[in-house]
Amino acid sequence: MKTEVSQSLFERALKVSPGGVHSPVRAFRGVGGPPRFIREADGSRITDVDGNSYIDYCMSWGPLLFGHQDPEVRAAVDEALSRGWSYGAAEAGSLELAEFIVQRLPWVQKIRFVNSGTEAVMSALRVARGATGRSKILKFSGCYHGHVDSMLVKAGSGLAEMASPDSAGVPPQTAADTLVAPLDDPAQLEALWATHGGEIAAVIVEPLPANNGLLPQRPGFLQSLIQQAHKAGALVIFDEVISGFRIGFGGMAGELGLEPDLVTYGKVIGGGFPVGAYGGRADLMDLVAPAGPVYQAGTLSANSVAMAAGLAMLRKLEREPPYAVLQQRVNALGSALTAGAARNGIGDFGLQSHGSLFWPVFGKVGTADGVVRAVEHVPANQARRFTRLFHALLARGVYLAPSGFEVGFLSTAHSDADLETTVAAFTTALTAAPGAD
Ligand SMILES: *Cc1c(COP(=O)(O)O)cnc(C)c1O
Repeated sequence: MKTEVSQSLFERALKVSPGGVHSPVRAFRGVGGPPRFIREADGSRITDVDGNSYIDYCMSWGPLLFGHQDPEVRAAVDEALSRGWSYGAAEAGSLELAEFIVQRLPWVQKIRFVNSGTEAVMSALRVARGATGRSKILKFSGCYHGHVDSMLVKAGSGLAEMASPDSAGVPPQTAADTLVAPLDDPAQLEALWATHGGEIAAVIVEPLPANNGLLPQRPGFLQSLIQQAHKAGALVIFDEVISGFRIGFGGMAGELGLEPDLVTYGKVIGGGFPVGAYGGRADLMDLVAPAGPVYQAGTLSANSVAMAAGLAMLRKLEREPPYAVLQQRVNALGSALTAGAARNGIGDFGLQSHGSLFWPVFGKVGTADGVVRAVEHVPANQARRFTRLFHALLARGVYLAPSGFEVGFLSTAHSDADLETTVAAFTTALTAAPGAD
């Protein structure tokens, strides 16, 4: 496989951008080797600047549920573009998208559009603090909420729940306002509410943690989290940036029939354009400027082209819900991959999945039921074994997100032939790069 052009672009990029990229995982640091520079994408495929074509399971990290260049999204974008591409004034596109969502998701009584998931989280946290007059936020280790300072924290070494910065540049005093709980540890969570409940403005959670592998939680976890929070006078923020509109139109809240006080969206909501959103109870959202005292603004917020893409995406999702079929196809993929691994003498491979999200797990999982629910359960050799498989698949034209801790995204554009090619590539890849440690 030729990679000369990608390599030379990467060398140039290293001179002008940190790590040669504009978002870290794109640099292939987790798996090694030069990142592929993508020239174009269509349907299930991406093509790099050297002319190599890959079946793409990264799908821009989730937005492209109908694959690259979905014709309906494209038509909406073309139409919007023909009228200009940014007004910085009130316009009807964002109203239509807001109405479309508010009419369908009962827990979203009002919504505000921003430009990224990070911005949505940052704003929702500010609303929660403004509403409660409290400073502390409770998060879970293993949940990602974008790169807001207060969320770039890890459990401290002393008192487990006292967070310390997980990035240079995050002040310790900012980290100190975040409490960190482990996932799948009800006793520790209960103790944390008992000690700090009265200081907590909100608990934020990925209701389906999908940024540190895919970590499905036990039934009842979210329900009791809501009860615990409300008992303590704290708000509940579901960060559905990755799960919203992807595992079902209503995300995890819809799937479980739960109503968070605030919710954040991103990824699918913009159809592949930069859109984030936060919303929730009307009394909370009415605290946001200019209706209320919590300031939040954006020069390019609710960009007209992005709104058109998002609306086309969500309309199509409602008209042709892909969820059941995608889930079946992921299940079938999991069975075929696991069988392929077993035929190669590898019994400790599994595919954890939920809807169209999947995550390959390599190694014996120590939990009683073999499910990885917390960062602490991830097998020790996950990264090493994923790396070998990643490169073997890449060489065979299958592009996974370049890290063993990122999930894969199935789209409706992935055909039966794509899946067959993937299973065949995986099975030969295992022979070429055996999974044994
Ligand atoms: C992707 C993601 C974010 C961050 O969104 P950006 O658009 O990358 O800023 C936040 N929370 C979750 C759950 C995400 O998956």
